Amino acid sequence: MPTRRSSDASDGEKLFETAVEQFDAAAELIGLSDRTRAILRSPKNEIIVSFPVEMDDGELRIFRGYRVQHNDILGPFKGGLRFSPHVELDEVKALAMWMTWKTSLSGVPFGGAKGGIAFNPREHSTAEIERIVRRFTHALGSNIGPEHDIPAPDVGSNAQAMVWMMDTYLNAGGGGGDRQNTRRVVTGKTIETGGSLGRDKATGQGAAFVLAHHFEQVNRDLRDKTAAIQGFGNVGEHSARAMGRMGVTLTHVADHTGAVMNGHGIDPEALWRHTSEAGGVAGFSDAEVIDVEDFFAADVDILVPAAIENQITAARAPHVRASVVLEGANGPTSVEGEKILIDRGIEILPDVLANAGGVVVSYFEWLQNKMSSRWRLPEVDDELRRYLWEAADNIEAEKKRLACTRREAAYAVALNRIGTVFDQRGIWP
Ligand code: NAD
Repeated sequence: MPTRRSSDASDGEKLFETAVEQFDAAAELIGLSDRTRAILRSPKNEIIVSFPVEMDDGELRIFRGYRVQHNDILGPFKGGLRFSPHVELDEVKALAMWMTWKTSLSGVPFGGAKGGIAFNPREHSTAEIERIVRRFTHALGSNIGPEHDIPAPDVGSNAQAMVWMMDTYLNAGGGGGDRQNTRRVVTGKTIETGGSLGRDKATGQGAAFVLAHHFEQVNRDLRDKTAAIQGFGNVGEHSARAMGRMGVTLTHVADHTGAVMNGHGIDPEALWRHTSEAGGVAGFSDAEVIDVEDFFAADVDILVPAAIENQITAARAPHVRASVVLEGANGPTSVEGEKILIDRGIEILPDVLANAGGVVVSYFEWLQNKMSSRWRLPEVDDELRRYLWEAADNIEAEKKRLACTRREAAYAVALNRIGTVFDQRGIWP
């Protein structure tokens, strides 16, 4: 198995340090035992695979893939798979750790994991992506499984990629005689192959539920508020649509191709049609182009970072004019950036809560596969809201009790659950 040199370390290493820093602060706050702290500071398993794939022109290329399994004391490892040239071990470790807190906080019986393949899907044909995904799945072998580790889509991957993973896993003999229920080895699949209604929009819908809950708590009306969203992929697009259904007007959108604004409102459906064809927001005719720094300083009520990590930095935080930051992405606010936002009285709805909708509905999908049942969409949405509002209520109670930040309170709720189970189960042998 290939190993990484320390000189490979880049921004991702900083991300894991950030994750550990946040964990240490919350562990201290709740007095988590030293033993549990020591266990949770490092992932349980770090899997790195290299595998060959033939390109359409006959060239052979070697790809590198990762799966980091952080903790499974509450249930099978669970977390997304990222397809991006920037994927590297320390970033995946941070994302896996955050998944452990997210599943615990949301009350679903899963642990935390994350993975990825270091490649840019935009530079490959569909046939090449399929071969990459299938070879990666094969290379992971029994490191994934329906009661062991259950991947889902993340940046750059999608429902089709999950279907290829499932199909490869089943054809390679995974599941034995229980092939139908074993479809739950991945979640975020297409509806036809065993996916859940509402899973495609779940993360964005969940973010909107979390936002609505917050506004209700502080007696503010969501109607006629404005929003700026960074990222118009799965999370960004569906947050825009769900917030739109609640009366919020989308005025600014940014992605890897640039930033655009229209003070009268951007129609998420029209923008989605454009990005589906053009690959990004650049060139959208019903808005004007703005500088990305002006995007972060937009005069809106709600700022939704829904793209990648480390976007609201110490340099950008002083210019943010939104009163609420709804973290659709994982780790979009740096530690320094967060301090500045809080000092300026800006409310942060942290990622572990704001984007937990995806994993909650993944749990519903997993359950439906296991039970060979199918839920209707209103059932999925109602249950999702119930899970997230309960998590949000627990956070607010803990925030008050500990007089801490909302993110620390979220970690406190998550860590208390995990710590209790470690205390009761003890350390074997
Ligand atoms: P996606 O691939 O569907 O979309 C990513 C978006 O980010 C695209 O619009 C892309 O243009 C934009 N982007 C990428 N690099 C950028 C850059 N350097 N600057 C600006 N924009 C950039 O991914 P997604 O599934 O929507 O995930 C977005 C975030 O949400 C990630 O942090 C992911 O971990 C998190 N998340 C996703 C899910 C899910 O269910 N998909 C669940 C929880 C959290």
